[in-house]
Amino acid sequence: MYGQPGAPSYVPPSASTAKTLILVGLIFQLIFAILFLLVLGVIAFLAAAVGVFSIIAVFYVIIGLIGFIFLFLIWTLCYKPVREGRYEAARTPTLIFAILSLITVNIIAGVLYLVAYVKLGDAVREQQTPPPGYPGGAPMMSPVAPYAAQPAAPMQPPAAPAPAAAPAPVVCPKCGRPATFIPQYNRYYCYTDQQYV
Ligand SMILES: [Zn+2]
Repeated sequence: MYGQPGAPSYVPPSASTAKTLILVGLIFQLIFAILFLLVLGVIAFLAAAVGVFSIIAVFYVIIGLIGFIFLFLIWTLCYKPVREGRYEAARTPTLIFAILSLITVNIIAGVLYLVAYVKLGDAVREQQTPPPGYPGGAPMMSPVAPYAAQPAAPMQPPAAPAPAAAPAPVVCPKCGRPATFIPQYNRYYCYTDQQYV
């Protein structure tokens, strides 16, 4: 059930970073929630001595519930989609929980989620243009534009044979079309089959 149907096994590097950031944020949020409940628990215990226990106790339960609902929601809406490759779906919830964490003075988790949100944006772009070698991938930045405008060459004597013969064009063994040389990788690439030949 993981991943999209037919999705390549390629995981963008930014997605791995975002996944780690969200997980560390969750751990910080858990520690923060436990510490907060411990402090509030002591306050509730002391308040019992002066007879205002009930109000503090209700507040204590509500804060505790909210904290664990938050943890559950971040796990479900942010961490799980990233693990399953649904980076776009995880972006908005991650931003919302980043803001909520910052508002509730959980600065470390908030900053972690905020960076994770930015990284998820990068991951979406990386997913759309996987590097060459992966299924569905095309060479990065299209180093060789097929119909790039050639600089206007000065008038040359016609039919002057080149002293050194140009290298023989490499033909894709799969489809028979001429392959394009990618200097960046020093290999020939077939745009039709989207693979190196
Ligand atoms: Zn081909």
